[in-house]
Amino acid sequence: MSTYDRIPSGAAAPHDRLVGLAAPAPLVVLAFGLAFLASAEIGHWLSFHDEQFGLEFATFWPPSGLFVAALLLAPRRRWAALVAAATAANLISDMALHDVGPKLSVWFSFVNFVEASTAAILVQRFAGAGFAFRDVRDVLLFASLSAGAGAAVAAGLGGAALMATYGGDFSTAFAVWWSSAAIGHLIVAPAVFALVDRSRRLRMGKVRPIRLAEGTLLALLLAALAELVFGHQSLPIAFSVFPLVMLAALRSELAGVAISSTVLSVVTILETSAGHGPFGLERSVPERVMLTQSLISLSAFSSLVLAAVVKERRRATEVLEESEARFRDLFENMSDLVQSVTPDGRIVQTNRAWKRVLGYDEAEVGRLTLLDIVHPDDRAHCAAMLDRVLAGEDVGRIATRFVAKDGRVVDVDGTGRRRVEDQRAVFTQAVFRDVSEERAQRRDVERARNELEVVNQELRRLAATDALTSLNNRGAFEDHLARELSRAFRYSTDLSLVMLDVDHFKAFNDRFGHTSGDDVLRAVARLIRATARGTDFVARFGGEEFAVLLPHCNSRGALSQAERFRQVIAGWAWPLRPITVSVGVATTTPELLDAAVLVRLADEALYRAKQAGRNQVRQARGAVLAGEAAPSGP
Ligand code: GH3
Ligand code: MG
Ligand code: MG
Repeated sequence: MSTYDRIPSGAAAPHDRLVGLAAPAPLVVLAFGLAFLASAEIGHWLSFHDEQFGLEFATFWPPSGLFVAALLLAPRRRWAALVAAATAANLISDMALHDVGPKLSVWFSFVNFVEASTAAILVQRFAGAGFAFRDVRDVLLFASLSAGAGAAVAAGLGGAALMATYGGDFSTAFAVWWSSAAIGHLIVAPAVFALVDRSRRLRMGKVRPIRLAEGTLLALLLAALAELVFGHQSLPIAFSVFPLVMLAALRSELAGVAISSTVLSVVTILETSAGHGPFGLERSVPERVMLTQSLISLSAFSSLVLAAVVKERRRATEVLEESEARFRDLFENMSDLVQSVTPDGRIVQTNRAWKRVLGYDEAEVGRLTLLDIVHPDDRAHCAAMLDRVLAGEDVGRIATRFVAKDGRVVDVDGTGRRRVEDQRAVFTQAVFRDVSEERAQRRDVERARNELEVVNQELRRLAATDALTSLNNRGAFEDHLARELSRAFRYSTDLSLVMLDVDHFKAFNDRFGHTSGDDVLRAVARLIRATARGTDFVARFGGEEFAVLLPHCNSRGALSQAERFRQVIAGWAWPLRPITVSVGVATTTPELLDAAVLVRLADEALYRAKQAGRNQVRQARGAVLAGEAAPSGP
């Protein structure tokens, strides 16, 4: 049995199903007593009478089923009241209405109590307190424990009393009593449960008129057919009623069983007891009774099982539908994009987020293939990915681009997996996240970073450049000097420094103005730059002073290079006044590898050039080698 079967289907708690229905408890108990009395009268009405021996055979005893149903539906604390009501009704029926002696009446009341309580306790013990003919197991348990065991106990006790009082055959008395009680259980108890369920559904407005009409029509049809078969000698086709009984069980479940069984019982019993039909013809009364009981009990039991099967199926379907609806809801409302694709690329299922992001409606999706939505540049890659997924490979992340209906490119990032249905249809199911915004942001950041890098490079260049002459500035010169010195030390190469200073420049400024002075400085810078070698490092040292670093250049080379600078500048066709420079040269030696000392030595040499009359080159003393060219000058 599945777990959902035990969940009470109504609002009322399982122990209070009878009383908790529509009326207060005392009223329900009173109604039960009256119903018991009425059902006993129906039982007598449906009895077979053997005029010859003055015997009455109860064929279908409704009070038995009513009593069991009441106990099963009521909480245990109300059992005493129900038993009291049943006992009172039984005594009234027997003593006041049917001339049964007091002793036998009390005994019959006791038998009724034992039967119903045994049946109810056994059923609740094995089927649970919430028992309600919900599944086949319920029906089988009820049939064996209530209609089987409970009614058999009553038949034993009752049959013994009948035999003691009237004499006769115990086995016939036992069999007829048992069958009539069992039929009562099989027909009336389900009817009461159906009634309780219907009244609840009626109050909830769940009963549809069309179904009521259908049920009524079915009952009338069955009554007519049963009347035809059991009211006439010429048609010995008792079994022909079964299809309609089964149809009632299929369509209306428990209520259908109750009504069809009741209709069938009433017609067959009344007609057969009058000696009509296939069971009534030329048979003894006990034979008629037993044939009728066999038909009714067989029909009631099998239709009850069928109704339970239908109910089980219906509930299983409901559970399945509920769970399907829950998962569909989850699927549709996911913020991720979900798609299912066939091996040939047809898109067969998508969720709401997918359709919203890509702008297609359900009908359009049905006509789409993967090629339609994948960005042209990503198609080959995507097709390869699809093949790998179909081959059962775990492809991990899938990052690609989709094109929405309006042409928008949607960046997606997700995972795909293979799904095999019916062992042959293979799908790839993929879940994607729309990462367009993230990607766009990342691209923006990348672009900004690149722009910043360009700006930084420019800033670095500007920071190392002299604004007026575009030569390297003093800071860059010092960095470069330090680097060149360590290189010269590491590789034991020469490094020379040439310092140049424009002669009488203050006077030039004073006479021609600062702007003209600036022009001169720019021109001097250009001349030095043009004269220097590619590997030389030219800088504006400050004011009207310039410095040139000459790597791999010994003092001799430096001296001639310095002389070239001096000559180029002095030889330039200056428009306002001749411009000359004084030049100092210093070169590293193994002992001299200090930047400050190198600069000071070059400076000192420059000072001596000034002293000597300007427009001259002088070499630092420490570095002058024997036989070098004498200082030059005009
Ligand atoms: P000396 O021959 O001894 O070098 O004499 P001098 O006048 O060149 O030397 P001094 O150090 O007395 O003067 C340097 C002048 O250079 C002073 C200043 O007006 C000028 N000067 C420095 N930087 C600039 C500049 O950027 N633009 C202009 N126009 N003049 C500058
Ligand atoms: Mg100067
Ligand atoms: Mg000067």
